[in-house]
Amino acid sequence: MTTNTIEQAATRSSFVQEFMHALSERNPGENEFLQAVEECIVSLEKVVERRPEYRAASILDRIVEPERLLQFRVTWVDDQGETHVNRGYRVQFNGAIGPYKGGLRFHPSVNRSILKFLGFEQVFKNSLTTQPIGGGKGGSDFDPRGRSDAEVMRFCQAFMTELYRFIGPDTDVPAGDIGVGGREIGYLFGQYRKITNTFTGILTGRDVNWGGSLIRPEATGYGAVYFAADMLETRDRTLEGMECLVSGSGNVAQYTTEKVLDLGGRVLTMSDSTGYVHDPAGIDREKLAWIMDLKNVRRGRISEYADAHDGVTYHEHDLSAGSSPLWNIPAEAAFPSATQNEIDLAAAEAMVNNGVICVSEGANMPTTPEGQHCFITENVLYGPGKAANAGGVAVSALEMAQGSQRMYWSREEVDRQLKAIMGRIHRASLDAAAEYGVPGNYLHGANIAGFCKVADAMVDQGSI
Ligand code: NDP
Repeated sequence: MTTNTIEQAATRSSFVQEFMHALSERNPGENEFLQAVEECIVSLEKVVERRPEYRAASILDRIVEPERLLQFRVTWVDDQGETHVNRGYRVQFNGAIGPYKGGLRFHPSVNRSILKFLGFEQVFKNSLTTQPIGGGKGGSDFDPRGRSDAEVMRFCQAFMTELYRFIGPDTDVPAGDIGVGGREIGYLFGQYRKITNTFTGILTGRDVNWGGSLIRPEATGYGAVYFAADMLETRDRTLEGMECLVSGSGNVAQYTTEKVLDLGGRVLTMSDSTGYVHDPAGIDREKLAWIMDLKNVRRGRISEYADAHDGVTYHEHDLSAGSSPLWNIPAEAAFPSATQNEIDLAAAEAMVNNGVICVSEGANMPTTPEGQHCFITENVLYGPGKAANAGGVAVSALEMAQGSQRMYWSREEVDRQLKAIMGRIHRASLDAAAEYGVPGNYLHGANIAGFCKVADAMVDQGSI
């Protein structure tokens, strides 16, 4: 892509400025949501110019407004008998191509803006998977860290006691996200089953013993690595021997690391919200198993990894003061797998200067707009989250398909389908980018490819 084209995209047209001005008046203070929309609208301006039927049906105005935004009180009792109140939410953003689908996030930062940004991105991501799923997101400002299993269970039961009336296998099918893993999905599912007396596919990410799909826990991380491999292939490169940076140490980070190892790469870093570890020898399978036990069973901090392994250093970071210094470590590939806006301009510039040629986003919106601009102008292979991390929701859709047939596929079969889906998302993003004059720009390509299918369905279904 020429610098000129990128410069044009980076300079906001009057159309984008006016659209964003109206949107920010309607959604004051919702910064994450406004950021996610702006990133998309820049890509979609040319599409609506070419497609008068989208303009006639006011598709852009409609697609930025959630179909439904539900908020509810969640009251629960801790181990000391004290009563707590949290806020629960479900954003049913767009159901034009299928039941709402998207994860639940339990984290103290959760609010309407964050869930609307995630729900909005989910609409495009789910469309890109080519599966029949609409976009939604939900969660709570509850913080599971430091809570006992019994407290987490009581919270999940209280949350589902409110949520159950809004979801259903053909209506809205939540899954996990930050703070919601296998343990939480189990408690949530159990409560739904008890209240409704039905055993049905209202949540994905379930254990294989009770309706889950093999490879669902692995899918987001594996998919982000498959996407990186596809991007690298366009430049005749592979992950073999490549040094990689991974942030986070949760579900996505763990399985990203596993797949990087499968493809011959070396992972030098992992992190959590308080710090990061740097292991110059690389995190091998044995060390990864140790981290999985630490995070998934013992529920400890990543700093403990440095205490237990020779040659590893631990560095605290204060993410409220800017990006983690993790991103200054020399490497060729990067997999941000923690949270939104974790790579700012300074971090992106450091990455480029220190040799990063490929960034595949396991997390949602981990790079700020300035950071994205840096990657694209510096010709980095940049895979945005809504394309690169779509593997998780794609396998969730495969879980729904298996559940409705009461037929379960082998590990190899699900992994084969995941890899094929990631390949199709990569191809669709590249093709759309080329069609709209920004060849190689996965950011615009993914936005455009994800948008058109949903917009067509909205036109077909009339003004509802
Ligand atoms: P987990 O809860 O399993 O892990 C999250 C990791 O990120 C933890 O290491 C956590 O550290 C760290 N983290 C969370 N919030 C912050 C923060 N504000 N600042 C710094 N670090 C933070 O979540 P997942 O691995 O499931 O999700 C990670 C990312 O991937 C999210 O952006 C999510 O939306 C995205 N994603 C997840 C999918 C899935 O299938 N799970 C699907 C698609 C995208 P700590 O323990 O200290 O909080």
